[in-house]
Amino acid sequence: MPTDTTHLAFVALGANLAAPVQQVRTAGEALAELPDSRLLQLSSLYRTAPVGIRGQPDFVNAVAALATGLDPQQLLDALFAVERQFGRRREFHHAPRTLDLDLLLYDDLVLASTRLTLPHPRMHLRAFVLAPLVEIAPLCRIPGRGSAAAWLPAVHRQRIEKLADCHQPQ
Ligand code: ADP
Ligand code: MG
Repeated sequence: MPTDTTHLAFVALGANLAAPVQQVRTAGEALAELPDSRLLQLSSLYRTAPVGIRGQPDFVNAVAALATGLDPQQLLDALFAVERQFGRRREFHHAPRTLDLDLLLYDDLVLASTRLTLPHPRMHLRAFVLAPLVEIAPLCRIPGRGSAAAWLPAVHRQRIEKLADCHQPQ
């Protein structure tokens, strides 16, 4: 459980190899087990077109909201540990991956270190981040960029489809 110094973090989940729907669901469960953290919300799953390199399988994406007592670097390290647990290979930038976890936002922190940039520098340009983020946090603001929802029209050409949620009662 989080300590009394909790922070609100948003994490993007993405997979496009080896049963990506299952990977993202199981990764959501892994986020719920992070130390000193609590999973507040996990968005619906979205099937999306790959960005950067053509000819890859579609991705499955989601966004999670976490309450955490970890600092941003500790949280990123914990996310990398989950990626490794899911067998991620970092072959090249934009390579197909069994699981990609990106730290989108950490409170309203603005930070640029060699290992970590906050807010995530490309989040406002990606439908596969914005749609699930706005689903779970409609009023979310990206420090320096304003309302997340206001960026959605700019990415409307990116192919994205919300998957039916088997967990919701009909
Ligand atoms: P991408 O997700 O852009 O395809 P990677 O997952 O391989 O690429 O990440 C590349 C590097 O980005 C990582 O080594 C990590 O240190 C750095 N990085 C910087 N800011 C962030 C962030 N906010 N979330 C995740 N990784 C980040
Ligand atoms: Mg990443």
